[in-house]
Parts: sequence; structure tokens; C-alpha cells
Amino acid sequence: MFELTETQQMLRDMAHDFAANEMRPVAAHYDQTMEYPWPVIEKAHELGLMNPHVPEEYGGMGLGCLDECLVSEELAWGCTGIRTAMEANGLALAPVILGATDALKKKYAGRLIEEPLMAAYALTEPDAGSDVANMRSTAVKKGDKYILNGSKMWITNAGVANWYFVVAYTDKDKRHKGMTAFIVEREWDGVEPGKKEINLGQRCSDTRAVTFHDVEIPAENVVGEEGMGWLLAMKAFDHTRPTISAGAVGLARAAFEHARQYATERKTMGRPIASHQAIAFMIADMFKDIEAARLLAWKAAALKDRGERNTLYASCSKVFAADACHRICTDAVQIFGGYGYNTEYPVEKLLRDSKIFQIYEGTSQIQRLIIARELFDRV
Ligand SMILES: Cc1cc2nc3c(=O)[nH]c(=O)nc-3n(C[C@H](O)[C@H](O)[C@H](O)COP(=O)(O)OP(=O)(O)OC[C@H]3O[C@@H](n4cnc5c(N)ncnc54)[C@H](O)[C@@H]3O)c2cc1C
Repeated sequence: MFELTETQQMLRDMAHDFAANEMRPVAAHYDQTMEYPWPVIEKAHELGLMNPHVPEEYGGMGLGCLDECLVSEELAWGCTGIRTAMEANGLALAPVILGATDALKKKYAGRLIEEPLMAAYALTEPDAGSDVANMRSTAVKKGDKYILNGSKMWITNAGVANWYFVVAYTDKDKRHKGMTAFIVEREWDGVEPGKKEINLGQRCSDTRAVTFHDVEIPAENVVGEEGMGWLLAMKAFDHTRPTISAGAVGLARAAFEHARQYATERKTMGRPIASHQAIAFMIADMFKDIEAARLLAWKAAALKDRGERNTLYASCSKVFAADACHRICTDAVQIFGGYGYNTEYPVEKLLRDSKIFQIYEGTSQIQRLIIARELFDRV
């Protein structure tokens, strides 16, 4: 578990070079313009850095969760706005790979491998984020089709997706067991993405509402079986939470590197600020938390790759990495003093980008809820 294979080291190096050469130089541009980073995505696709966990039989590289963590950390070190745009495909694909028919996987995962196309995972609604059961979207069966109505909110890639993984009620009385998952194509009648949301950070990532008005979905586009939507949507997080945790580690590492460097250059009271214990201890804390967060993410990922249940560790790693990342970015701004608060210096973007890790894919409060449930309900 502590030794990476030669292939894993090469993969990590390739992702690092990509982040250094293709992401870092344009990160501020995409933050300021909020443009979608298509040119970066196209290059990443060419190199095989997009959709890395699509199995080989569908044209992908079939990488494991730990492999994906290595890529995710480096890409996030480059720019988490661009990384989120890229890796939202992984979130949309995860439940499809888990539960879809062979034909659906070939069609929809295959498409993303062939071309630099995007996908989106659409679970959240205006009144249903942490409280998934409160969702209002419905899909009513009519012959060999389902008719989908409802609105999703805060959906990453909603404006650029070629297809959406969507969860809706097919039987509200059954609560979680009455939810069904579908693949819905962007071009189908009745699919309407909303305006681009202007977020605090990760501003080039495309976040929008998306509305479905009487959208006709062929029955073969059900992912898994009727009633499996909630389970698939949640199981997907067992794969994606370790990788998102690794993303938080990459961002924290970037903030740490900037802060450590600055602390050796900036002088007050006649000496570098790194020699003031208050600053040195902040940097020491950053380092230890980054190392611990990485190990937790790798543990959650390694369990997944071994086929073991990893829900407990996936949530532990997500909350630990997200909280550490936000704290580290806040401290990095502190170490830069007034310069840290300014857009000419790199750390204010990192602080803005860091907040979302405590919110998307389940808030830090919800991760603690899951951890507590795993500790108490399963004993
Ligand atoms: C930029 C961005 C991108 C996103 N991308 C996607 C995406 O691609 N697909 C998708 O489906 N969703 C996406 N989301 C939605 C995201 O997952 C939700 O915002 C998140 O789950 C929180 O839901 P909420 O916003 O409804 O907050 P709420 O659920 O209303 O929570 C509000 C606050 O209450 C706390 N809280 C709620 N319930 C409890 C409880 N039982 N115990 C303790 N505290 C609680 C929360 O932790 C939070 O602090 C995205 C959100 C953002 C902002």
C-alpha cells in the first residue's frame, strides 16, 4: 500500500507534467474569464487523462481508484477548477460502470473515450441536496418509455454535457427504494440547462440547474433496475470520494508550497518569517495534514480496489481532506499577509477554490453522519 508500482509512478509523473505545463499557466485566466477550459480538456483527452477508470472492454484504461487518486492529486495541484470540470465525467460514469447494462456502457462510456465529450451527474435538486429523499423529479412509465419531469440544481458540467446520469422517483411511496436512475441525452426534447452559476471558486467549472420537461427516455436507458437509483448514486461515491479527497490534497499541497516558499523570502523584524515559530508551526501543521489526508485517501481507494466495502473510509478521507484543505488554504493566505488577500498572488484563488470540497459530493457534516452511522449501525 505504501509503495507505488513503476507504472503508478509514471502515471503520476505524466499527470504532474500535464498540470505543470497545461494547467498552471492558464489557471488564473480561466478563473478570471470563467470560460470552460475546452482546450485543456481536449489535450487531457488526447493523453488519456480523462475518464481513466472506464474498463478496457469499453475502450478505457481500466485504472483503479488508487491510480485515479494519483492523477487527481496532480491535476488539482495544477488547478481545481479545471480538475472539477474534467473529473465530473468520472462522477457521471461511476454509477453507470457499476450498474448499467453492457450495451449502455458501450454506448455512453464508449462515447466519452472516443471524443472529448462531457457528462454530468444530476442528483441534487433545489430542495434536495443532503436530503436526497426530498427530491421531486419523477419518471412515469408509459409503454416502453419513461416520461421525466423535474429540476436539478448545482450540476457540474450541466451546460456542456453530452449526457446526464439522472435520478428520479418512479415510486415516491417507496422512498429511497422508489428512485430510479437513467441516462438522458442532452439533445433530447425537453432538456434545458439553466444559466451558468457564478460561484465563489473553481469558477471555470460549469455549474447550472437543468430542467426536464416531459423528456421521453427509452426503457433501455434505465441504469440498473427500477428502484436502484439511490443505491447506485450513493455507491458511486465510494469510488469518487477517495479521488476527490486526493484532489483536496493536491490543492492543499499547492497552497503549502507557495506558503513555505514565501515564508523563506519575506522578512520581518530582520529575519525570514519562517523563523518565527508561529509561522513555522502553521507550515508544519500543513505538511502533517497533507500527509495524513493523502494516506486516508489512499486507504479508502486501496480498499475499493481490493473489492472491499470502503464507505467508512471514503467518508473519513473526504471530510478529513476537505477540512484540512480549507484550513491550509486559509493559513496560506495568513502567511502571505496582505499580499495573500490580493488577486496578484496565487493563494487567494486557492482559498476560494478550497471551500467547495466541504460541500459537493456530500458536505463535511454529512460525511460525519455517514461515519457515525457506519460506526454505530453496523456493529
Ligand atoms: C459548485 C457545486 C457543484 C456541484 N456539483 C454537483 C453535481 O455535479 N451533481 C449533483 O448532483 N450535485 C452537485 N452539487 C450539489 C451538492 O452536492 C450539494 O450542494 C450538497 O450536497 C449540499 O446540499 P444543499 O446545497 O442542498 O445543502 P443542504 O442540504 O440544504 O445543507 C445546508 C447545510 O446544512 C447541513 N446539513 C444538512 N443536513 C444535515 C444533517 N442531517 N445533519 C447535519 N447537518 C446537515 C449541511 O451540511 C449544510 O451545511 C454541487 C454543488 C456545488 C455548489
